[in-house]
Amino acid sequence: MTPFVAKLAWAAGILLWYVIRYPHQRRSRKTPIAKTSMASRRDCVREGVLLAISFTGLFILPMIYVVTGEPRIADYPFHPVQAWFGTAVFAVALIGFYRTHRDLGRSWSVTLEIRQTHQLVTTGAYRHVRHPMYAAFFLWAAAQALLLPNWIAGPAGLIGFGILFGLRVGREERMMEATFGDAYRSYAARTWRVVPGVF
Ligand code: SAH
Repeated sequence: MTPFVAKLAWAAGILLWYVIRYPHQRRSRKTPIAKTSMASRRDCVREGVLLAISFTGLFILPMIYVVTGEPRIADYPFHPVQAWFGTAVFAVALIGFYRTHRDLGRSWSVTLEIRQTHQLVTTGAYRHVRHPMYAAFFLWAAAQALLLPNWIAGPAGLIGFGILFGLRVGREERMMEATFGDAYRSYAARTWRVVPGVF
């Protein structure tokens, strides 16, 4: 493993992530919405800003680094073992991403929304944790930190996605509870948020 191959692994991970998401994104546009967090202008701006922060950390800053090598001042020595580990973590993230999309089906959306035919999913990847897709995003962000030996481009994904997660997850759970009531409350009572046994 060389620094160049590690950058390629990062780019391949991003590409595969997009390939997995694309059909769901298309279908999601055609699935009618019943309830949206974007109803008020304030919420719309808030969601937009959070998504932009996450996108900057997971895509824009690492992309700049991969293409231009900047910011060089934040570089640290490359360790092949670290990059191999990052590749493995990215692979696990993609498997998680594939499975959560499959399990969530038409209930998935980029922003916080409830579909007209929304089903509460509590099986498959959702059996033990309530946010397995966000867990997959954290794994992707961790893979980025391991693959790119740079103190800014590497951890940017963990920070960017961490901000989105931190400011969204409570609202998402309140929205689910308001929609599914006791069914969601009992699901929440027997599951973890992201990591079984930890959080
Ligand atoms: N937080 C989840 C889903 C992310 S997609 C995860 O990390 O896996 C965001 C959308 O998923 C939200 O708009 C919400 O309506 C929907 N959602 C979240 N949990 C759900 C569940 N258990 N069943 C059905 N839909 C869910």
